[in-house]
Amino acid sequence: MAVPQRRISKTRKRLRRTHFKLNAVGLVTCPQCGAMIKSHHVCPKCGYYDGKTVVNNGKVVKAEEKKAPASKKPAAKKAPAKKSEK
Ligand SMILES: [Zn+2]
Repeated sequence: MAVPQRRISKTRKRLRRTHFKLNAVGLVTCPQCGAMIKSHHVCPKCGYYDGKTVVNNGKVVKAEEKKAPASKKPAAKKAPAKKSEK
């Protein structure tokens, strides 16, 4: 079994361990309720994310606003698939 050739001194050990540290979590204030939340996460207090309420009392809210832009999409015909085969 491989064994260290010589003992690591206190200084070398401590210098190595200067990099052992926790990173601070990126916290931002919720625009809805003002609580400190992780950025790019749904607010655990009010369920707010990206300008709308996503979670309400633990239930996922399906936004009705999504239906309006979705109704426009079927009207527009899909572009023909690319023919890469030759
Ligand atoms: Zn909130």
